[in-house]
Amino acid sequence: MTDLAEEVAFSLIGHHDVLAFIESELKKPSHAYLFVGPTGTGKATVAREFARLLLCPEHGVHDEACSSCRRIGTGNHPDLVIVEPEGRTSLGADTARWVVGQAVLTPVESDRRLFLIEEAGLMTDQAANALLKTLEEPSAAVVFLLVAESEEDFPPTVASRCRIIRVGRVPEDDLTAALMQRGIEEEKARVLALVSGGRPGLALQLAGQPQIAELRQAWLSVPSRLSARPGDSITMAEEMLARIDPLATEVASSQPTADQRDRAKRRASQSLLAGGLEIMASFYLDSASLQLGGPIRNTDVPLPELTRSSPARAVAASHQVLDAIVDLAGNLRPVPVLAALFSSLAGD
Ligand SMILES: [Zn+2]
Repeated sequence: MTDLAEEVAFSLIGHHDVLAFIESELKKPSHAYLFVGPTGTGKATVAREFARLLLCPEHGVHDEACSSCRRIGTGNHPDLVIVEPEGRTSLGADTARWVVGQAVLTPVESDRRLFLIEEAGLMTDQAANALLKTLEEPSAAVVFLLVAESEEDFPPTVASRCRIIRVGRVPEDDLTAALMQRGIEEEKARVLALVSGGRPGLALQLAGQPQIAELRQAWLSVPSRLSARPGDSITMAEEMLARIDPLATEVASSQPTADQRDRAKRRASQSLLAGGLEIMASFYLDSASLQLGGPIRNTDVPLPELTRSSPARAVAASHQVLDAIVDLAGNLRPVPVLAALFSSLAGD
């Protein structure tokens, strides 16, 4: 396999059900699909894989990649139209109208044309409305593949016309095993699975980064370093973000344009922040579990650190940490969210 094919195959691990579903759709595809799931789970890769199988004359059943499949891999298939947002933050009505115009054209090589919109959540309401008519009166030769975090990113009129495919995160053990199969030693594989929060693409991109183990340790040490002194929470929030920043920049560096690098960096930062907070929450759950006689996950944390809060407080703290992940997913600014969390936990 080529590097690219290997990377695609890796991003698809843990998504067996989804792949089985898209294979079952190949014979009689619907005219619009919406792939939803958290950042970095590989939903765009799943959508591209679906595009490849739909355009391949043999639906991907061949020992060696055919010309159609190879050109999907290199982004040069005339019947796969990739729709990019303009700039950093929106996909507007002009782009949508361009798509509508393209959607009436006859396929060049295949029997259908596919429109892949990987950041469909950036679509403005005007753009969604411009697309709506095409979605309502679909041509048999057109399939739309939209990718977004959630169907709530769209007006219900758009989401209801799409078949929704959910691409979740990969369980820690599955991701660890897959990383080990690629020659990564177990301890590092587990740290990558944790730091990436079950996101295979991100885990793979971080595999070469030596500071990953340190990042996990830093998140695990936050509860013991919390301080109620004014200003300390902000400083610690900034410190944690400064640890994430170079990693996110590195992950995004392979993107070809500045706008794509910006968007990739924002997604990587969000994923790393969520992964880090989950590690922190696991500290508190360990604290409760240890004191109640249960098993712990982070066996390298000194036991005295795990017995500082009562079990009930530790469970409450883990809830607070997980709530912060939800706030951050709602695009609140990270420094105040983290600082408020740290300050509140320090006061408990
Ligand atoms: Zn093929």
